[in-house]
Amino acid sequence: MVATGLRDELPDIPGVHEQWGSGVLHCPYCHGYEVRDQPIAVVGGSNRPFTIHQASLIRQWSDDVVFFTNGIELSENERLRLDARSVGIVDVPVARIVVQDGRVIGIELTNGTVVPRTVVFVGPTFVPNDALLRSIGCTRLDNGWVATDPTGLTSVDGLWAAGNVSDSPAQLINSAAAGSKAAIAINHYLLELDVTRAVSAV
Ligand SMILES: Cc1cc2nc3c(=O)[nH]c(=O)nc-3n(C[C@H](O)[C@H](O)[C@H](O)COP(=O)(O)OP(=O)(O)OC[C@H]3O[C@@H](n4cnc5c(N)ncnc54)[C@H](O)[C@@H]3O)c2cc1C
Repeated sequence: MVATGLRDELPDIPGVHEQWGSGVLHCPYCHGYEVRDQPIAVVGGSNRPFTIHQASLIRQWSDDVVFFTNGIELSENERLRLDARSVGIVDVPVARIVVQDGRVIGIELTNGTVVPRTVVFVGPTFVPNDALLRSIGCTRLDNGWVATDPTGLTSVDGLWAAGNVSDSPAQLINSAAAGSKAAIAINHYLLELDVTRAVSAV
């Protein structure tokens, strides 16, 4: 079983790496409740669809959300959908995340303006750590991720994958459950080999 997870490729903005997991977040289902009702920034990056969706989604946790497009060109309809939900939109590029005493206090734009914010959400690009699976020749889906059956079995006999390496949105509970499911399937697979070997020895 391969359970090597994924890498979050973050927007290349000063302050993002330093604050990752504390003042800079990506998952409202992990952190949304703790940062509810705060002035929240959503900053655009390379994962365009994820980030635009995130700007709408985060609005469920706070009335004060500003989307910093940061290079993302919004269509008229995308702008309308955010406007309709009272999500602020700033098109001036982001220069850095402003941090004071270890805490995010704002977003500095390239024109020098600082927009006060206490939390930043970004849309990382999710890259599976699947070099081993690919080198063995596992079939991949159209989106490039390794294909598995519901137990995690890949297209290669005897090789399972579990968790984020093959399932990007899986949270802790899903990843652990996938490991358990795969382990049971592997046990059944090995049992079948034992029985087959025993039968052929009779
Ligand atoms: C900032 C942040 C906050 C999060 N908060 C939550 C939360 O509150 N609740 C929640 O449910 N989920 C949360 N998640 C998601 C959670 O981390 C994942 O769902 C979970 O870790 C996936 O488990 P996994 O075992 O698939 O991968 P991982 O936990 O990433 O484990 C993979 C392991 O494989 C190792 N590895 C990689 N390549 C190799 C290799 N070639 N050889 C050997 N080892 C290798 C890695 O070092 C790592 O230890 C959060 C994620 C992030 C980034």
